Amino acid sequence: MSDTLTAFAQAKIRSLDEQSLLRTLKPTRRLDGVWVEREGRRLISFSCNDYLGLTHHPAVKAAAAAAVQAYGAGAGASRLITGDTPLISELERRLAAKKGAQAACVFGSGYLANLGIIPTFAGPGDLILADELAHACIWAGAKLSGAEVVTFRHNDVADLEAKLTAGRAAARHALVATDGVFSMDGDVAPLDPISRACRAHDAWLLVDDAHGFGVLGEGGAGVRALFPEARIDLQMGTLSKALGGYGAYVCATAPAIALLKTRARTLVYTTGLPPANAAAALAALDVIEAEPERVAAPLAKARRLTRALELPVATSAIVPIVIGPADRALQAAAALEAEGLLAVPIRPPTVPAGTARLRLAFTAGHADADVDRLAAAVRPWLAGA
Ligand SMILES: *Cc1c(COP(=O)(O)O)cnc(C)c1O
Repeated sequence: MSDTLTAFAQAKIRSLDEQSLLRTLKPTRRLDGVWVEREGRRLISFSCNDYLGLTHHPAVKAAAAAAVQAYGAGAGASRLITGDTPLISELERRLAAKKGAQAACVFGSGYLANLGIIPTFAGPGDLILADELAHACIWAGAKLSGAEVVTFRHNDVADLEAKLTAGRAAARHALVATDGVFSMDGDVAPLDPISRACRAHDAWLLVDDAHGFGVLGEGGAGVRALFPEARIDLQMGTLSKALGGYGAYVCATAPAIALLKTRARTLVYTTGLPPANAAAALAALDVIEAEPERVAAPLAKARRLTRALELPVATSAIVPIVIGPADRALQAAAALEAEGLLAVPIRPPTVPAGTARLRLAFTAGHADADVDRLAAAVRPWLAGA
């Protein structure tokens, strides 16, 4: 009997490998916010989203461990059944306060959050407009919703306006979705004009703040704090990047959150966040509130690099070094790794074809000397170098 499934997988893998697009997992031991160990070698990582080093913060780890002892290793059921530990409601209150919103809803992960949020507020007969570089889970949620999905050019408010003008009247509701900080580019969405366009066309605005929360704005409140005038109906973000743990949230009005809690399929049909994750996020929020210097550090490190390399000034903790061809990005990463620096190459389909890159992420624990070493190692790979 021919095993067609295995043959299918083999052919796919061979084809991806020929295009330098095959991805494989590499066991990595993260020793702290900066150092990782791979195949027995210690490397300084510029590829973690652990912007504040909170994955290994003693208070965060202790809170997670204590929650396991007090509440158990898992939630035991979905939140609507018996999985809604008191830690989650406390976390939701803290997140809503931090975002200046009435209420919050915690999800299992950022991916699950967008998969649940978008179909709750948009469906067949509605229009979703998303930035072309929005995160994969925004696209997945949009597709799942059954609404008409339209792409607007990256950070291009005129294009968004034109597409709202063209499509809004025929749609019952319209939802505009964008990253706040773009995960592979590090730039920030112009939320003031985007919000104005949304209001002018009665469209709702969803902003994914995965990479802004804990890094940007007063007290690490996130990208929202940079645009105090903007009205953001759905402020989504994760507990997995600057907060160093796992899980996600959305902040909105109390009725919007109440609707999510009864309708979002990725809340209703999945097990609640483990108590340890909720406790870790609460402890991480404490650290963020107590240590503004830590919050300010990742952006300062990113700016040190962009200054050194005469690149456009960093606007977040993420700096892309676009190399172009996927095989060349692999070579660049290998060259850096030979110098003890880890910068995992990002290739299509995560980024558009022909824009493979080193995506550099900075953390509070990086020493200035680490950033300077990185700048020297990256310089030969800059376009035109
Ligand atoms: C990482 C990320 C997510 C997914 O969050 P997880 O908690 O890792 O599932 C969603 N949106 C953006 C913009 C991200 O960068």
